[in-house]
Amino acid sequence: MLSKAKRAAPVPLFLRMVLILLMALAALCATGPPALAQDAPAIHINGAAFYNDTPPFLHLPGYNYASVRDLSEALGFKCEYFGEEQLVVLSKPGFSLTVKIGSDEMLLNGQKMLASVPSVFYNSRVYVGLRALAEALGATVGWDGETNSVTILTDYETKISAPAPLPLAGRTIILDPGHGEILANGAINPGAVGASGLLERAVVLNVANYTAELLRAQGATVIVTRGASTGLTLSQRAQMATTYKADLLVSIHANANVNRSIKGTAMYVNQVSPNAKEDARLAACIQQGLVAHLGTKNLGLFTGSYAIVRNLPCPGVIAEIAFLSNPDEEKLLATADYQKKAAAGIAAGIIEYLR
Ligand SMILES: [Zn+2]
Repeated sequence: MLSKAKRAAPVPLFLRMVLILLMALAALCATGPPALAQDAPAIHINGAAFYNDTPPFLHLPGYNYASVRDLSEALGFKCEYFGEEQLVVLSKPGFSLTVKIGSDEMLLNGQKMLASVPSVFYNSRVYVGLRALAEALGATVGWDGETNSVTILTDYETKISAPAPLPLAGRTIILDPGHGEILANGAINPGAVGASGLLERAVVLNVANYTAELLRAQGATVIVTRGASTGLTLSQRAQMATTYKADLLVSIHANANVNRSIKGTAMYVNQVSPNAKEDARLAACIQQGLVAHLGTKNLGLFTGSYAIVRNLPCPGVIAEIAFLSNPDEEKLLATADYQKKAAAGIAAGIIEYLR
């Protein structure tokens, strides 16, 4: 709080100038990028859902904005952008609408008309008030506040593109969090145990679940082979790839070595595999994803004989994120942030592999 008793000392000229500059900057920021609508309306054109890669956003309260290109092309108009003149021209034989960027002025077949709100240039795109544009293009616009939906009706043919399918739509992925099987004595196999007691089976279950979430958001069907524990053997877990006709299997682990200074990310595949070439390509993709997201040392690809990736109908790899036996990496592996980064790396690798 400021003291009331003190009178403000005169501000030196250069300080005043700095202040004016700062205020100008703040004003610029305030009118900067338009706010994205939290509750963008559903838009239907002649009964068909209209999707675009730039969802409408609210720039001024009460006005829905749409990308000029997306909307006009959906309505069957040609859209041309003239950067030097700061104009966008929408046309059809015998019809033209010119939108002046940054202004509410439009020219309809050469006649000046005003939109309710000015157009804005944002993120390399020109946006205009949705209603003004659609009406200028000869459509009838209805808005239902209760369902937050916009209905656009035209009596001419429209071109509405279907939404782009998600990159992993139709793909099935098996994620196997390592270890966790119930042992003969009733205990649960912990996998590696860090010096501070961190269990591999717990870390990799979290990473697998985070990865599954990311892959499902991209349209994939993801099967995680176990929960907190499992009564299945490793071969039974591998069998899931056949049962679910999987595209690939990734077994997720955290490494351990008697030499506690060893750290980094390593991939393991079966030396004898009908999918050897694809195993190696999948391993390289996941390795790159993990190293990029975690900043770990790339220890490369190792081969051996592992039940979890044996007799698979698809490529399969074992991904060893980092070393639980290394104190630095154990500390990191314990955090949700690092586990999520590992998941992002694995997901990025899988997406890259299936591209
Ligand atoms: Zn393991």
